[in-house]
Amino acid sequence: MSKTVKDYIRTIVDFPHEGILFRDVTTLFADPRGFRMAIDQLLHPYAGTRIDKVVGLEARGFILGGAVAHQLTTGFVPIRKKGKLPGQTIAQAYSLEYGEAVVEVHDDAIQPGEKVLLVDDLLATGGTAEAGIKLVERLGGVIVGCAFVVDLPDLGGRRKLETMGMEVHALCA
Ligand code: IMP
Repeated sequence: MSKTVKDYIRTIVDFPHEGILFRDVTTLFADPRGFRMAIDQLLHPYAGTRIDKVVGLEARGFILGGAVAHQLTTGFVPIRKKGKLPGQTIAQAYSLEYGEAVVEVHDDAIQPGEKVLLVDDLLATGGTAEAGIKLVERLGGVIVGCAFVVDLPDLGGRRKLETMGMEVHALCA
């Protein structure tokens, strides 16, 4: 039987903490068939949809988002952890299990009215994606979809994003 995207993803037990089953997509990225399959499937629902920019969330969202943007012939915009971007930025805080994190985007990276596809490797609680969506919307961008390789539905991210009115697309759970 032919392999699916999920077959290329390995699970690492107890990373980064005991009790966590970490979905490691580096094995998907490292395989030529797996990587192409993932990019093709991420793009599939957006055929015929206007997309001006692809936004990728640090860090694995850069690898996926860069390939998706190349395929769509759009620009790519990184959303990075605080302090990494060299130009003028806007910042958005979000909650982690313990404490808070901040992500940033260049304040001239998206023009008002531009249609944006947000890409990341994995959707868990949805906190990271929500912060990314808020940054895009604060710049006047319009999110046309949020695409992930993995959705962990028990952690509530899809529900959170759908409640915000987002279209969520994931390749596997
Ligand atoms: P959330 O904010 O809880 O939805 O977590 C999603 C973010 O954490 C994404 O940027 C993922 O890259 C990262 N993440 C959380 N769990 C995993 C995992 O098991 N594998 C890979 N990335 C993960």
